[in-house]
Amino acid sequence: MQPYRIADMHCDTIVHHMVYRKDPACLRKNDGHLDLERLKAAGSLVQCFALFIPSGENSLKERKGLSPYDFFQAAYARYLGELEENKDIVRRARNLAEVMENDAQGLLSAVLTIEDGMLLDGKLERVDEIYEKGVRLVTLTWNTENSLGYPNLPDAPDTERGLKPFGFEAVERMNELGVIVDVSHLSDAGFYDVARACKKPFVASHSNARAVYGAPRNLTDDMLRRLADCGGMTGLNFASYFLSEEKVSTASALLTHAKHIVNVAGEDALGFGSDFDGISCALEFGGCEGFGAILGLFEKHFTPRQMEKLTHKNFLRILEACCFA
Ligand SMILES: [Zn+2]
Repeated sequence: MQPYRIADMHCDTIVHHMVYRKDPACLRKNDGHLDLERLKAAGSLVQCFALFIPSGENSLKERKGLSPYDFFQAAYARYLGELEENKDIVRRARNLAEVMENDAQGLLSAVLTIEDGMLLDGKLERVDEIYEKGVRLVTLTWNTENSLGYPNLPDAPDTERGLKPFGFEAVERMNELGVIVDVSHLSDAGFYDVARACKKPFVASHSNARAVYGAPRNLTDDMLRRLADCGGMTGLNFASYFLSEEKVSTASALLTHAKHIVNVAGEDALGFGSDFDGISCALEFGGCEGFGAILGLFEKHFTPRQMEKLTHKNFLRILEACCFA
């Protein structure tokens, strides 16, 4: 086994199996990108599990006719059921102390996150509600406009429309409570609004470098520097369509982005946000079992200290800075 523990800021595994595959509970072992048995074997320390709220064209069907808020409740119930079923392997973590406690007992830590703040629907009390439920990171938007702000659409970055007034209020409340603000999918204007307004380090949980590959979902060098200035980080996204023109996602393409991000923003600004079970391309390294191959290549290009940081310590630092309870 490779020697580094792993923290991964983003996967869509829960909703992928619940909605798109219609599988019964299967977090322990499945044939998708990620399951608990393979995570544990790969050396995982923390896995963030996103409750992704489908929006856009087929959303009502994908949400089984439920509102975003009701869909979140259904996905949350599924998540709790998976944790209960697999409590011999995984336990929830809401802060750094819980991660360390779980690890001391040989347990993998699950950090609960939400992809698409649309379920907040302009209601500030819902930030408190999701916090109470254990959510510790919110991706403010996905690919559609919501009550918080505007997304970075696949065809062009939106440089005009950023956070809405409720977006600013929600960011402030997230800072007060201890919920990490995530700008992946947010418009460029929204990124800069968060950089100005956010009082804690923030993250792009699953975004790469736009200078390496010009997808609007990736971050410009200026954005990477701003993120680092705020004490934040970005998580490498494993989707081929955010890495290069190649149809297959490769460890060497990930390395190219990783080296660029470290050169531009420093070694404290990089981590992983695989997007497992949320991406549709071929993966040269397979699913989460492929962390070994990826890190085997990274080790040839980064120092042991840099490897410790990018594999997990940078995310633990963010967790400590943002999530105090
Ligand atoms: Zn995403």
